[in-house]
Amino acid sequence: MRPVKEKILRDVVTPGESLGIIEEFLPGEGTYLDDDNIKSLYFGVAVLDIEERKVHVRPLGRERLLPVKGDIVIGEVNSVKRDTATIVIKKIENKDAWLKPSFHGMLHISQVSDKFVESLSSAIRVTDIVRAKIINNKVPYQLSMKDKELGVILAFCVNCQNPMVLKDRKLYCPQCRNQEEERKISLRYSTPFKLQ
Ligand SMILES: [Zn+2]
Repeated sequence: MRPVKEKILRDVVTPGESLGIIEEFLPGEGTYLDDDNIKSLYFGVAVLDIEERKVHVRPLGRERLLPVKGDIVIGEVNSVKRDTATIVIKKIENKDAWLKPSFHGMLHISQVSDKFVESLSSAIRVTDIVRAKIINNKVPYQLSMKDKELGVILAFCVNCQNPMVLKDRKLYCPQCRNQEEERKISLRYSTPFKLQ
C-alpha cells in the first residue's frame, strides 16, 4: 500500500452539500454527482486525496461520538404520546457534530417547561425541529426543553408543510395563513424568511 496524502476539506458536511465541481476534484466514496457538482451522501467529514484529487466523505459514526449529559442537541420529533415523545437526535450543537446514525431521545411531559403543561401534543408536534438538552448519560437518552432557548426551533404547517414563521409569538403559515396555538417555542426559533 502506498501512503495516501490527504487533507480534511471540511469538518462537517451534510447530505446534498456541494463539495466542489468536477473541474476541481473527482467524486470519491460517499459522494455523488449532480450535474457538475460533487455532493455529499452523508453527514460526515469531507477528505481530499491530494494525489488522486478525489474527494471522499466519511460518515460520522456512532463510535466517534456519543451525546453526554449537558449536551445541547438538535432533533426531529418522531412521535408524540400522552406523556412522552420520541425525538430523533441529529446533531450535537455544542460539538458541531452531526450524528450518523442518529439516536433516539425521550422527552417526558415534565421536562417540557417549568410551567404546567397539560398535554404534550400541545407543546410539540411530529416533524417539529427542536433544540433540547441531554439530562442523563445512558440510552435511552432523556431530554429537557426547560429553558427559554430550548424548544421548537422550526415547525412545518400541517396543511401545506411550509415552514412556519413567528407572528406575535405564535406560529403562522405565510403560505395558507394557518395559525397554530400553543407550542413550546424556543427563543432561537429560526424564521426561514421574514414576514413583510
Ligand atoms: Zn400552510
